[in-house]
Amino acid sequence: MRVLLVAPPGAGKGTQGVVIASHFGVPHIATGDLLRDHVARGTPLGEQVRGHLDRGELVPDDVVLQMVRERFDDLEADGWVLDGIPRTLAQARALYELARERDTTADVALHLKVSDDELVRRLLARAAVSGRSDDTEDVIRRRLALYYEVTHPILDWYEERGILVSVDAERPAHLVGRHILTALEVVRQVLESAPDVPRRAIDLSALGAALEELT
Ligand code: AMP
Repeated sequence: MRVLLVAPPGAGKGTQGVVIASHFGVPHIATGDLLRDHVARGTPLGEQVRGHLDRGELVPDDVVLQMVRERFDDLEADGWVLDGIPRTLAQARALYELARERDTTADVALHLKVSDDELVRRLLARAAVSGRSDDTEDVIRRRLALYYEVTHPILDWYEERGILVSVDAERPAHLVGRHILTALEVVRQVLESAPDVPRRAIDLSALGAALEELT
């Protein structure tokens, strides 16, 4: 299974990325984690991107794409969960080319829907314990604004390609995880039985409310 996570900061990409990766036995590749690791180790790449991370700005596309290209070249598994990329339409297109060269384009672009109030609440709560340089209120608001400006519009592109799956991620993490895995298992079965049939976007964001009693 090859899954792209497209969601605002604080929506639970990291948490759900780990859940999906362990369910399908594929690596969880989080660009934010890879970049923070470079900063912590003081590598030349880390020195180059430290300021961008501190200010909540995006790292240049070519830097992040080169990092992902190298990670792809090391991959042994056929699948992956990509968390944190693409952030721009240019990254989405470049990633598509990169994956196409390897015959491994994404099966699903998973969108986690969360209201802004809840995102800010979660990010401020995380700020108290994470020690991340970009978890301050100013930077949090800048990262959210940037998400809506340059990342959110990518969803239309995945919708047109028919690989978008949207879920309600406002609810507790274990319930969100359950909905995601249910949706992805259905997609997996479709892919196994009819890999070449064109698909349509799936919006499961009302499922949580509809099944309130059962979940
Ligand atoms: P995250 O952990 O996904 O919230 O990412 C933390 C920070 O890393 C972001 O605010 C950006 O500065 C940088 N970053 C992560 N992924 C990307 C990306 N795909 N493109 C540009 N910058 C990124």
